[in-house]
Amino acid sequence: MPQNPIIKLNDVHLTLKSDAGPVNILRGIDLTVQPGETVGIVGPSGSGKSTLMSIIAGLEAPTSGSVLIAGEAIETLGEDDLARFRRENIGIVFQSFHLIPTMTALENVAIPLELAGRADAFAVAAERLAAVGLKDRASHYPSQLSGGEQQRVALARALCTNPKILLADEPTGNLDGKTGDIVIDLMFKLHAELGTTMILITHDDQLAQKCTHVIRLEDGKVVAPVQAAEMAKTE
Ligand code: ADP
Ligand code: MG
Repeated sequence: MPQNPIIKLNDVHLTLKSDAGPVNILRGIDLTVQPGETVGIVGPSGSGKSTLMSIIAGLEAPTSGSVLIAGEAIETLGEDDLARFRRENIGIVFQSFHLIPTMTALENVAIPLELAGRADAFAVAAERLAAVGLKDRASHYPSQLSGGEQQRVALARALCTNPKILLADEPTGNLDGKTGDIVIDLMFKLHAELGTTMILITHDDQLAQKCTHVIRLEDGKVVAPVQAAEMAKTE
């Protein structure tokens, strides 16, 4: 039975002004993602991967084209609705973790739950920290954690509200190979448990092949169509 796509981008363009004239950063992106799918986005540095992620997250508005996320045409949402939309639908993990240094691991994970006004914020945050294997690190500050541990805290924070979509922008870019693998395995495990749709930006083609679909961006365009991964999913 055909489902409603959770992400549908139609002919999305993003043009920014610069002193040297307009810069076309995204040039006609079409993208359809079904709920629960995993999509790898690959492409050279500067090809527009992070910008595309910002558009899916509702952090950046396209110059033209339509963006439908979880049934909402997000360009039509006002500021308050957009904040609610992000809270309910989007979790993000960045290359550089983006944890708040003056807060413990538990406090960092609880932030989105507290912003959502959840009375059980700390209980749920503790559960999510346990799910990423960091139960005994709850009271540690980011500076007391390894890079891999910090990224696991960031992953717990991104998933604590059960968002429909997890966006990960080079999540292993600051980690060594083995530590990166642990984070990636955890991401796929939680994706499978929670049914989260996952968009994984990486310049590692092999890593992208773990996803059900892979798209390649070059110069603001999709150059390789969405295709089934050749490799069987391992989980
Ligand atoms: P990627 O993540 O694939 O490396 P980005 O999405 O970060 O690529 O950037 C795509 C292009 O857009 C790059 O050429 C970058 O310099 C440019 N760019 C990104 N953000 C801005 C901005 N705010 N102003 C001007 N140019 C930008
Ligand atoms: Mg980038």
